[in-house]
Amino acid sequence: MLMAGKKGVILGVANNKSIAYGIAKQCAAQGAKIAFTYLNDSLKKRVEPIAAEFGSEDLVYPCDVSNPEEIKALKESLEKDLGQIDFIVHSIAFAPKEGLSGRFMDITKNAFDIAMDISVYSLIEVVRELKPLLSNSSSILTLTYYGGEKYIPNYNLMGVAKAALDMTTKYLAEDLGKDGIRVNAISAGPIKTLAAAGISDFRFMLKWNEAHSPLKKNVTTDEVGNSGMYLLSDLSSAVTGEVHHVDCGYNIMGMPAVDFTDG
Ligand code: NAD
Repeated sequence: MLMAGKKGVILGVANNKSIAYGIAKQCAAQGAKIAFTYLNDSLKKRVEPIAAEFGSEDLVYPCDVSNPEEIKALKESLEKDLGQIDFIVHSIAFAPKEGLSGRFMDITKNAFDIAMDISVYSLIEVVRELKPLLSNSSSILTLTYYGGEKYIPNYNLMGVAKAALDMTTKYLAEDLGKDGIRVNAISAGPIKTLAAAGISDFRFMLKWNEAHSPLKKNVTTDEVGNSGMYLLSDLSSAVTGEVHHVDCGYNIMGMPAVDFTDG
């Protein structure tokens, strides 16, 4: 059991299609004890049965990351119920609808601020607040996407947020390395989740990735979960500040292979 004796918190489960659910499943299978958070009361009803599935019915807490008081309250609850922790999963992103279609240059300051606050700053704030609880061999994981490295149609504002998140991962990794805390990101290929439903023409992204990735398929939440478990476990004890692509190899492609032999 690769995570026996490890305790941690996973932020970002909305339902059993969530990438965070895939990570929870693989960590629980390897013996981890997991606390869960939910955004609001309607998601609470979905997260509670998922927590129960992993034997964590008493470890479910509210945490809207746009509210600093809820992050502080989360720290208090985790300290009381778990004491020291060994991992944090930040699987959270949000951009107002207007930032996920149309002309990029029409994005408003308000939409920009919201996306950066929830999708990027929240990682910094959660890590800072929970830092006193982290053991000296702990691991933090966030979720990013290739749209922060290269242009992807309609990903627009979230692309800029993911670029900032990628660098946040690296700066946090340097800050926390001396305390034995690692910080990594998984850049997952497209997966049909609640958050993905907000991106225009998402179905086309899935088809394109399947057709043009070296493995000729789309990644599953279980596969991202396995890679997440590796980054959260001591198997990756020398890995930090990394943006690890779990995308069936799509990111290596400069151009799709085309057969020109028929002229
Ligand atoms: P999801 O909808 O299941 O998860 C997104 C989560 O963010 C939800 O649980 C939601 O409650 C939470 N959230 C939003 N605003 C919040 C707030 N203010 N406070 C607390 N939580 C909040 O979708 P997902 O695809 O599993 O997304 C998880 C992460 O994976 C996101 O960062 C997303 O950008 C990233 N990602 C997704 C894909 C994909 O194709 N689905 C690909 C690469 C990266």
